[in-house]
Amino acid sequence: MNEQYHYNLLGVIKQSSNEEIKKAYHAKAKKYHPDLNIGNVEAKQKFMEISEAYRIIMNIRSKKKDWLKNLIIKAPAAKKSEATKEPKSGEDIYKVITISFLESLSGCKKKLNVERYKTCGCVENGIPSSCCPICNGTGKIKTNNTIMFNIPKNIQDGQSIRISGKGNKGEAGGADGDLIIRIQVKADENIIVKGNDLYYKQEITFPEAVLGVRKQIPTLKGIETCTIPPGTSSRQKFCMQNRGLTDDNGNTGHQYVVIKIIIPKAETKEQINLLKKVQQKLY
Ligand SMILES: [Zn+2]
Repeated sequence: MNEQYHYNLLGVIKQSSNEEIKKAYHAKAKKYHPDLNIGNVEAKQKFMEISEAYRIIMNIRSKKKDWLKNLIIKAPAAKKSEATKEPKSGEDIYKVITISFLESLSGCKKKLNVERYKTCGCVENGIPSSCCPICNGTGKIKTNNTIMFNIPKNIQDGQSIRISGKGNKGEAGGADGDLIIRIQVKADENIIVKGNDLYYKQEITFPEAVLGVRKQIPTLKGIETCTIPPGTSSRQKFCMQNRGLTDDNGNTGHQYVVIKIIIPKAETKEQINLLKKVQQKLY
């Protein structure tokens, strides 16, 4: 094939500038790119031919002395068919997610944004087309995926779950890799588990204890309101029915909210006088 043939393929002439040739090539490469013409053998063939033509023209222009050498080393095996490709499995992707202690007890649904890579259609025999406008010659195309998954109940800190087929894409019919998610469980010193029951420590202020207050309490079923009545003492417990764990026999425990009153320090004269007044009026 002569030089003119390659120029004709790209729809340019010998007098065209490098920029014009690049532009013409990119337009045609995008039109015929295998990833935009899935299953279209003719488009793929055309893509390989114009890629080869572009490479050859640019080689001749940039390295006139060594053009023959470049041609031999860099010209792609354009005529190879799909059937000669070896199937290759996609790599696994590793991620870490942090969940709350309550979520680890009850199990939960989560989602993660995962960048998965697939092999660009320009890759032939493991070699990407160095001038491919879709992957910029890297041979890999990044795709952003939102992956939803369930974390089973009673998962321990440091355990991993494997989501099959959600890793990087396989090549030439090879299996997709897996997504492996390591679970980090955030410790929560306010929660104690006893059998099926949960004990949740809730701190309140001295005025809240006297006047009563409503607190938002995290439970296995989400955030719920617990009403703490006026005149509540430290260590008093309030039961949130059926908010505990469910055992294998189907018995569900309760969640107890255990009150701890925070006693402030009176340091200024004003604070001390105020408290003395409260003492006189309330006791
Ligand atoms: Zn490519």
